Amino acid sequence: MYEIESVRAFEVLDSRGNPTVMAVVETPISYGRAAVPSGASTGAREALELRDGDDRYMGKGVMKAVENVNLRIGPELFGMDVRDQCGIDGMMIEMDGTEDKSELGANAILAVSMAASRAAAAAMDVPLYRYLGRPNDSVLPVPFMNVINGGEHAGNDLDIQEHMIAPVGAKTYKEGLRMGVEVYHTLATLLKERYGPAATNVGDEGGYAPPIDDPVEAFDVILEAIDRAGYTDEVKIAVDSAASEFYQNGSYNFGGRSLDSTDMIDFYERLIQEYPIISLEDPLAEDDWEGFLEITERIGDRVQIVGDDLFVSNPAIIERGIEEGICNALLLKVNQIGTLTEALDAATLSIKNGYGVMVSHRSGETCDDFIADLSVALSCGQIKTGAPARSERTAKYNRLLEIDDELGLSSKYGIY
Ligand code: PGA
Ligand code: ZN
Repeated sequence: MYEIESVRAFEVLDSRGNPTVMAVVETPISYGRAAVPSGASTGAREALELRDGDDRYMGKGVMKAVENVNLRIGPELFGMDVRDQCGIDGMMIEMDGTEDKSELGANAILAVSMAASRAAAAAMDVPLYRYLGRPNDSVLPVPFMNVINGGEHAGNDLDIQEHMIAPVGAKTYKEGLRMGVEVYHTLATLLKERYGPAATNVGDEGGYAPPIDDPVEAFDVILEAIDRAGYTDEVKIAVDSAASEFYQNGSYNFGGRSLDSTDMIDFYERLIQEYPIISLEDPLAEDDWEGFLEITERIGDRVQIVGDDLFVSNPAIIERGIEEGICNALLLKVNQIGTLTEALDAATLSIKNGYGVMVSHRSGETCDDFIADLSVALSCGQIKTGAPARSERTAKYNRLLEIDDELGLSSKYGIY
């Protein structure tokens, strides 16, 4: 009943119009489907996204990864128990045999890994969040909504990639989401007033991409939108600098100046004093471990410091970070590591060591809502999946509404 009888993949498009892998895993009684997301500001140590590099789709085709699923992975997994996630992932890791999954492609492996878990959940007739989690996992995450886009995700001059709002003071997920949406629309009105109608054009993650270059000004408008919407106490601010993108030869080209790590940390220290900021992701570059140690020591007791490009959801790197006292939270992106098993290991390791976990989408997404279930299964209380606009982003927020409805009275909300 639970044996895998078919594994196949095909090319589909992501939200930026680039190809990505969708896989389907079937058993005699169930079907599971999953699509892989894709980043733009990727960490150097991420698992490899296999692209064809030929004439199709400006070299971005994924037919090699698709063939690897159809011709190599599928036959090996045939007959395996679909509920044996570790076995399935372990088999693919062994077949691949490389550190960065470059032989089969992390996009090929992850599509199958996620689709298998969906097929297993369906075979067992339980929702995905219940299959991946424990019987009592019922925490709906705080939605960290990216309302102003910059960096690699927008055509403006903002160096900071993501300016997010986090409705931590809401009582329920539903209320939190509504607050975020109201702030998002209030922000549109405000941006139009200040910078003209073109200021509400959006970036890759659905946040506005206004013509602002002063990093502090972006926080000013967000704060004003929060106040105008009436949520001064409930809605806080979070940041993803994606600082590796503006780090060159040991210095940060930030806000039109060249800064060292200590200057950057001074900037962040002032920022968290002046604005209600609760979380700083990749405030420094992935190679600047000393800087990360310094910022964690200086302000880690006042604000969440999240490692994204720094940790690339890799348990071995996270372990080193924990040992050295770097950051206090993990950004979890399943495609950075390439299997569900390893992503769950990364989350468990972090949680066990008192680190927060924020489940995350990528800037290139599909309407696959897998990470919504994952965030509930981990009871980690934090998800970032873009602005509350554009279907590839709202798919996740909407799936969380569905889970919330299903959990009914047992549904909880907040950062745990
Ligand atoms: P990416 O951006 O998906 O383009 O890497 C998201 C992030 O940095 O968190
Ligand atoms: Zn990031």
